[in-house]
Order: sequence, then structure tokens, then C-alpha cells
Amino acid sequence: MTEKKTTIQALQAVRGMNDILPDEAEVWEHFEDIVRDWLKSYGYRPIRMPIVEPTPLFKRAIGEVTDIVEKEMYSFEDALNGEQLTLRPEGTASCVRAVIQHKLLHGGGGHRLYYHGPMFRHERPQKGRYRQFHQIGVEALGFEGPDIDAEHILMCARLWDDLGLEDVSLELNSLGSSEERARHRAELVAYLQAHEARLDEDGKRRLHTNPLRILDTKNPELQDLVEAAPRLVDFLGEESLKHFEGVQALLKDAGVHFRINHRLVRGLDYYNRTVFEWVTTRLGAQGTVCAGGRYDGLVEQLGGRPAPAAGFAMGVERLLALWRESGGGGETAQPDVYVVHQGEQALRLAFRAAEALRGHGFAVLAHCGGGSFKSQMKKADASGAQLAVVIGEDEAAAGEVGLKPLRGPGGQQRVALEGLADAVAECLFTEEEDDGGV
Ligand code: ATP
Ligand code: MG
Repeated sequence: MTEKKTTIQALQAVRGMNDILPDEAEVWEHFEDIVRDWLKSYGYRPIRMPIVEPTPLFKRAIGEVTDIVEKEMYSFEDALNGEQLTLRPEGTASCVRAVIQHKLLHGGGGHRLYYHGPMFRHERPQKGRYRQFHQIGVEALGFEGPDIDAEHILMCARLWDDLGLEDVSLELNSLGSSEERARHRAELVAYLQAHEARLDEDGKRRLHTNPLRILDTKNPELQDLVEAAPRLVDFLGEESLKHFEGVQALLKDAGVHFRINHRLVRGLDYYNRTVFEWVTTRLGAQGTVCAGGRYDGLVEQLGGRPAPAAGFAMGVERLLALWRESGGGGETAQPDVYVVHQGEQALRLAFRAAEALRGHGFAVLAHCGGGSFKSQMKKADASGAQLAVVIGEDEAAAGEVGLKPLRGPGGQQRVALEGLADAVAECLFTEEEDDGGV
């Protein structure tokens, strides 16, 4: 009987959805630590929403004739009850849904919130554009003045500073109110219709569905046409203008530079008044690292009592790419101590020593898997630990351990288990002083 060998195809992650391996994941965690401190320093509080939501939420919030709803959503029918569900493509809709559902705004006053996590969009995968990507989202609900818009922008500027990012610049625009946009839209459509023959396929389609989006076309042949199109700012009423000027004044006071981009319209329907994007030239075509603005109508549109709101979202993959470009994020976590041991009694003492040190707050890697002292010491060295705890049969019998610096000068000393934490502290702190000294 011949046995037929079949090769099993190795399984791969879904296209456009990335594994983040330890070297990289440590950079993510470092970044997330900085971000959490930064959010706290502005008084923002965490909120966590489900990753799956009813499809109508996104259709209603983001708008039927947007890229996301038309072609980017991962939607499916719940096999058990037939409900239409979608993997969230962004966080604002979910956040507002949660705020309404749990009546957070009923007590009066505003809420400053943030969330972070994966978002899903069925896009063509390329550098800086994935099907599962991550955002940090910041939303402030219940605030109507230009102050909160400016706060959001200043926050971003401070984070870029904290991260040491280079070449990030701010683009700003105002979309006015829905009435102002409607008046602008009528003029814009008339203008574009007069030049309809020049529009590309996308433009012709959008002319009657979402003409505002034609303004941010990337088609080089249309640039002069859209540049000369009627500008939203010329349709802003007194209130909208005052708001827009209020934001600008606060930015100028803080020394944050911006460029007014009359063609910045954002891809989602819910925005009004202030919109902004932080862009960089360092990441190629996918240069927008953060985007946001005001969305005063959304709470009511999703069934809540009317409440003003504003927010923004940062693309984590793009920010991390830029962070690396600017020389950041290099550090990886290293243990303080690596414990090597040989023999059964030594193994048991090694476990006790490691736990005792962890109890004092040290990061400890205990060797697992046996091997000669020599090979264990190689692993200790490669781990990046400052110190090795060495336990052989002699030490084990005496209830003592060897302590050996792996980086700095000094030989191995022998200490009792009870004195180990103090001895480790002394070695580490002395080394740090040496590092930081003149
Ligand atoms: P783009 O114009 O690049 O498609 P967008 O307007 O669709 O962006 P938003 O919905 O405003 O993006 O999302 C905010 C941020 O999230 C973007 O500025 C970007 O940094 C990031 N982002 C959006 N889509 C993706 C994606 N598919 N992959 C990686 N990051 C993304
Ligand atoms: Mg997009």
C-alpha cells in the first residue's frame, strides 16, 4: 500500500491584517504608555465599546454616500438571528451610540473621552493602509465653543512634541452649518456642472451624491478646476465665522502653526464647522496621521437629545511609522536579572530567588529548559539583563546564590537568599549612577 503524502497549506493571516510581533509590539506598548499619560494630562477618560455594531449605526452616522459605507465595511449577517452587523470602521459612531444608550449626557456638563483599538475597512492594502488598523480616538461631548476644538488641536501638537515627531503640519478648515453647506453645495454643483465634461468618472458620480468630496480629489488633472471652485468659507454665516476665528485665535496664542485648506472636507458626513488634519510628507501617499473636527448634529441624528461634540482619531500604524522615521520607539524591555541554575535543588532555589526578586519589583527571567552553565550564561547575556543570579549545587546546599554583573565591572559575589533583593538593588543603582555620571 502506498501512502500518499499531502502537503498542508500553511494558514496565513487575512490580507491587510497584520500580526504585530514582540519587537514591534513592545514599541506599541511604549507608545501606548506615552499616549495614556498624555490623555490623562488633559483630563480625558477611557471608554471601551464593542468591535461589532449593528450595520445601521454606521450607515446613519457616517452617511450612505461615503467611501466607508459604499465600499469599505466588513458587514455580515448574524447566522443565528439574521441581524445585520458590521466590524467597526471607526470609533465615533460607536462612542456616540454608547453615550446615548447609557444617558451619559443627561446629568448635564460635558464628557471628555478616549478609546483605542482595531478598526476594519476593506481597502486595497498598501503601505500605511490596512484592512485592520488601529486608532486612538478622542471625543468631547457637550461642549459647543471653539475652545474644545482648539484644545484638541493643542493636545495633538503636544503629543507630537512628546514623541519627538518631525514634519507634521496642521491643515484647518470650517464646513459651517448644514444650511451653509447646502447653499455652498448648490453653487458648487452649478460650477461643476458647467465643467462636467472635464470631471473623471468618480467626479461625475459624486456630482449628484456627494459633490463636496470632489474637492479633495487626488486626480492631478482636476486640481486647477477644484482650486477655482466656490469656497465654503465664503458661505459661512456670522456664528460659524466667529467660531472659526475663535479656534484660530487660540491656536495663534499657543504658537501652533496652521494652513487653511479650503478643500479639506473630510470623508464622513457627520462633520460641521471645524475640521482638521495633521499631515506629514515623510510617509509617502498615506500622509494623514490624525484627523478630526466638530460633529454637532450626530448625537441627535443617532436618537439622543441634541448635544454639541467634537473629536479626532489618530492612525496608530502611521504615527508609529513616523515615530520610527524620527528616531523614536527604539527601546525594548529588558529584564533586570536572569537566573541560571543547574541541578534539581538549584532549580527550586532559583524559583524562590526569582519570585523573591519579583516581589521587590524587579523584572526577572528565570532560565527554563536546562543546558550547561555556559549556554545558560549566553542566554543571560543575550537577554539584555544587567545581572545574572547563578545557582549551582554548592550554592543550593548553602541556601545562597551567586550574583554576577553582566554589563559593568565587578566579579561574582555570593549572597544569602534573604539579602538578595538588597544586593541586586545596590548593583543596579550603582550602575545607573555610573551610567548617568559625568
Ligand atoms: P484616508 O484619507 O487616508 O483614507 P480617512 O479620511 O479615511 O483617511 P479617517 O476615517 O479620518 O481616515 O481616520 C483617521 C485616521 O486613521 C487617518 O488619518 C489615518 O491615519 C488612519 N487610517 C484611516 N484608514 C486607515 C487604513 N486603512 N489603514 C491605516 N490607517 C488608516
Ligand atoms: Mg479612507
